[in-house]
Amino acid sequence: MKKLFFFIGASLFMSAAFFAAVRVSSPAIPVGQAPARRTIGHTVILDAGHGGEDGGAVAFDGTEEKTVNLRIANDVSDFFVLFGVPFVQTRDRDTDLADRTLQTIRERKRSDILARYEMVNSAKNGLLLSIHQNMFEIEKYSGAQIFYSANDEQSLRLATILRKVIISHLQPENSREVKPSGDSIFLLYRAKRPSVLVECGFLSNRKELELLKMPGYDAAFGYYITKGMLQYFYQQGNV
Ligand SMILES: [Zn+2]
Repeated sequence: MKKLFFFIGASLFMSAAFFAAVRVSSPAIPVGQAPARRTIGHTVILDAGHGGEDGGAVAFDGTEEKTVNLRIANDVSDFFVLFGVPFVQTRDRDTDLADRTLQTIRERKRSDILARYEMVNSAKNGLLLSIHQNMFEIEKYSGAQIFYSANDEQSLRLATILRKVIISHLQPENSREVKPSGDSIFLLYRAKRPSVLVECGFLSNRKELELLKMPGYDAAFGYYITKGMLQYFYQQGNV
């Protein structure tokens, strides 16, 4: 909890700065009159990738992607509560959404993805934020990579804002651009709502793996994802 309190303190300060900056460009508000309160018109489906029997990618030291995804997603969830972002989590513990009655792992994995897809489509004005980690056979690659659904303009806009915030605060040397998803990412490829997938880092890079395992780094990552989401909502006129 200590790290959370640290980041809550830091985030309050930074959000105050953010909204102060916003205030500069807003019309003057007469003294004694509160500004009209607008609400965020989306429900974010906060998706920690994999879970349960599906561990996702596995680092050389045995660290499973599902665990890193969950830690970061749970931090994002704490910040969403703090900033009043409406959301639901696909999972907040080590589990999956698969139909247990199915016989094969392949069938269960498909039912798990379809259940997540259904959550996005059935939510009121749903928007998918999926958290994953990257893996590659060559160790040198590191840094966040953000994929977006090519099915609507908002997905690209959100991915671009998230990239900018994450890179400027955490990974200034990262030159990786946002990418439209191919058909290998079902949730984005078939998306009917704005959808992005954030690969926070490479489990195959030793340095980045250490960072991803470090207490506090996940909270920092969660904070900057939240900051990017708030900027997106603000630009949409939703805050
Ligand atoms: Zn993954």
